[in-house]
Amino acid sequence: MKTKDSLFKKFRGQVFKNKDLSKIAAYKIGGKAKFLLVPKKDEDVEEVLKVSQEKSIPLFILGSGTNLLISDKGFEGIVLWMGPRAGEKINQSIKVLKEDDQSVLIKVPAHFSKAQLLDFSLRKKWSGLEFSAGIPGSLGGAVYMNAGTKWGSYGEVIECVDFVSAAKGHFSLTSKDIGFRYRGHGEGLLDGATLVSSVTLKLSKTKPLEKILSTVDEIYSYRGLRQPLELPNCGSVFKNPVNSEKGAGRLIEAAQLKGSKVGGAEVSLKHANFILNTGSAKAQHVHSLIRKIQNKVYAQFSINLEPEVIFLGKF
Ligand SMILES: Cc1cc2nc3c(=O)[nH]c(=O)nc-3n(C[C@H](O)[C@H](O)[C@H](O)COP(=O)(O)OP(=O)(O)OC[C@H]3O[C@@H](n4cnc5c(N)ncnc54)[C@H](O)[C@@H]3O)c2cc1C
Repeated sequence: MKTKDSLFKKFRGQVFKNKDLSKIAAYKIGGKAKFLLVPKKDEDVEEVLKVSQEKSIPLFILGSGTNLLISDKGFEGIVLWMGPRAGEKINQSIKVLKEDDQSVLIKVPAHFSKAQLLDFSLRKKWSGLEFSAGIPGSLGGAVYMNAGTKWGSYGEVIECVDFVSAAKGHFSLTSKDIGFRYRGHGEGLLDGATLVSSVTLKLSKTKPLEKILSTVDEIYSYRGLRQPLELPNCGSVFKNPVNSEKGAGRLIEAAQLKGSKVGGAEVSLKHANFILNTGSAKAQHVHSLIRKIQNKVYAQFSINLEPEVIFLGKF
């Protein structure tokens, strides 16, 4: 139910209490958030960050929920939803900061989706984001995760990022300061209470459009053939280990875990680094399957698989 709450007096967006998060998360599982706040304007988030800090209420910044496993027990705190906002158009929100014959520097609010930005850049004939074809979720999530594929990652095209937190207010960091690394960033930088508000990216104007489009098509076909996209999932569950020639999927396959199940959660037969919600999965099933995979891979290869998926709530 949507209710205004006395905690968030100035907040102009929507405030939901005891809101079921399973409808939002790509996995389609998980419990309720004590508060779910959907901002209307950028300024709304400041009040939420402040209330969370002053009242010591745990905070979670949600993008589009495509890399999340939300506990069946839910989250006893504030979930601030920084996903796409209804009615907002990306072409009216992007600012061109600098442009010449070779390149363009653009600033994009972080709640827009990667797909919206890729689509916009293709219409403008700008290159640099081809690698992101098929990665779901928001730009905020892209910064947090340094999302990417074997063709590239956001850290390579991001120049700087604007952040806001209750402790530090508004501040910007260059890509170098953020310290982007494989599916992550410098330690302690994004502490869960630091919100990515906008992203500045440098894109190229020199690549022929046919070449840009053929790369994007190639990536979509590659993903379609190799990834199980028919059932709810969170993309790759584990990061590829740095100390192994084999990626996480190959290790899981070698440990003969393809098709392995716990309740309604199943290791995909198509790509072993995907765990699917076959319809009746609980978050606990996915969590137990993750532990089972980690234990078996460690027992067989002495390799610790580190989850790429983010856990929200208690397991
Ligand atoms: C079918 C499928 C395919 C996928 N393929 C890929 C892939 O090829 N490559 C890849 O890297 N990932 C992939 N993913 C995983 C996921 O899409 C990415 O990690 C994505 O960047 C997450 O974005 P999100 O907005 O959904 O973030 P969420 O899942 O909502 O959140 C992820 C993390 O980012 C933080 N976060 C989100 N927004 C903000 C913000 N504004 N400020 C601060 N923190 C924020 C959250 O707190 C959380 O810690 C895939 C997922 C699916 C379901």
